[in-house]
This record gives sequence, structure tokens and C-alpha cells, in this order.
Amino acid sequence: MQSYSCVNKCTWCDGCGDYGIWTAVKRALTESGLAPWQVCLCFDVGCHGNGSDKLQGYRFHGLHGRVIPFAAGAKLANPKLPVIAFGGDGASFSEGIGHLVHGIRSDYPIVFVLHNNANYGLTLGQASALTWQGQKMNTAPNGIPEHTLPSMDFVFSLEPTFVARSFSGDIPQMTEIMKAALKHRGFAFVDILQACPTWNHFATHEYFLEHCYDVTTEGHDTSDFVKARAIAVDTSKRISTGILYQREDIPDFYEKLVPRQGKTTTPVEEVAITDVTAYMKKLL
Ligand code: SF4
Ligand code: MG
Repeated sequence: MQSYSCVNKCTWCDGCGDYGIWTAVKRALTESGLAPWQVCLCFDVGCHGNGSDKLQGYRFHGLHGRVIPFAAGAKLANPKLPVIAFGGDGASFSEGIGHLVHGIRSDYPIVFVLHNNANYGLTLGQASALTWQGQKMNTAPNGIPEHTLPSMDFVFSLEPTFVARSFSGDIPQMTEIMKAALKHRGFAFVDILQACPTWNHFATHEYFLEHCYDVTTEGHDTSDFVKARAIAVDTSKRISTGILYQREDIPDFYEKLVPRQGKTTTPVEEVAITDVTAYMKKLL
């Protein structure tokens, strides 16, 4: 199979969790039997977004916090195409939060990978909505006054159909989660706790190694919404990772669109076979 490898050099800092996530994505796509021309990878702005030109494949690099709308648009235009959207914690839980809300509640059939390094890394370490309260950041030398946004509780409040969590040092687990997310029927929310050794000195690679545990080792039932929400939210002593919640029994957004029901072609195929010559002549 054609490789996802690319000659462009990575510019991430030494020890950045982006290296692990980037490796897991390539492994997951390859092990899923998908060639670079068979997927659509969508990025917004951020350190992770700089990975868009570090791998082969069809890629979009859009505006900060706006990755979900254009990823969903690509998917709805061509539902046969697997689509992965990558977003950072800063954008996804601030100016892009409305898109996240509607992405989850709409259950668009895409994978959303959250690069969660709890700060704005690319712009030099400002606090994000997910920075831990009390941590000193470049924009908050005395620690942020706001409380940290409870991201997992928020996500579960939107009635998601797939929620998973991993950390950037566990490439095998991230790979398996992404493969499962690619097969999921609707919107797959994948939270990756990401080491950012340059700016985040609290949630480090070592911290994740010490605190993360795999829920499969404890026989977690992924259909149990209440339990999944509880173990997702409570990270005070240890951090649950793996697929936390999944349901596949409800149709996704595209399947619910009445005008699309019974169609065997996709919107992009229909546009391709439509002769617009007469229409264009009328416009001229
Ligand atoms: Fe990675 Fe942080 Fe460096 Fe960005 S600033 S490349 S997230 S280590
Ligand atoms: Mg970030």
C-alpha cells in the first residue's frame, strides 16, 4: 500500500506528543486498509495543524476552531469517504465550541481527534479553557482565575455516541481507538491527552504514565452511559483511557436525511454527472 510518509520535516519540539499521535494516525489508517487517496484529513490551526503537511493524503488546513464544519461538509458531500478532523483544546473549547456542540448533537459520521495539551502551544503557551486552574501560563503568571472547563462532562451532556480517551505516549492504544473510531457509525469523539513539554509542566508525559489506566483491564461496559460519564469526568486520582462509551443503534445524521434515503449515489457523484451547460449559458 502507498505510504503515508512524507519528506517534509517535523517542526514540533523534542518530546512533543504530536509525534505519537501522528504515528498512531498513520498506523490506524494503514491497518484499516486505507490508502492516502481514500481518506480526508482535516486540520485547524495549532501545533497539531502543522502536521497537515507532514503526511500524505487528501488534507484540508482550515481556520482556528472551524475544523468540524468543513470536515462534516466533506463527509456529507461524499459519505463513502472516511473523514478525520483534528482540533486543539484551545480552539475546540473556545471559539470552536459551538461547532463541537453541533457536531456531537448532529452525530455527523466523522472522527474528531482532540489534541488536548491544555494550552495554546503554537502561540507560545497561553492558557486555554482546559488549562488546570492555578497553573502559571504566559498569559496568566498568577494562574488563571477561571475554573477549568469540565470538558468530558460537557461532551457527555451532548449525548454522544462514541467517546474515547488516550494519551500521546500510548501509540498502540491510540491506534486501536482510532481504528474503532473510523468504523463508528456516527460522530466519534477521541480525546488525546497530549504532552507539551515546552509549555505544559503539569500534565506531563510522566504524569500520564503514572495516572492513566486502560478501562478494558477492568471489564468496563462501553454501553453503560452513567458509568462511562462518571469515569470520564473523575480524573482526581487516575485517568480512564480506552473506549469509554459507544452506541451504534441509532442512525447518523446522513442516514436521517429524508431526501438522501434510498439513494445509492453520493452528492459528489451526482454533481459530477450533472450537465450544467444550459444553466451556465443562461447565466452568461
Ligand atoms: Fe508540541 Fe507544545 Fe512544542 Fe507545540 S509547543 S510543538 S504542542 S511541545
Ligand atoms: Mg492546545
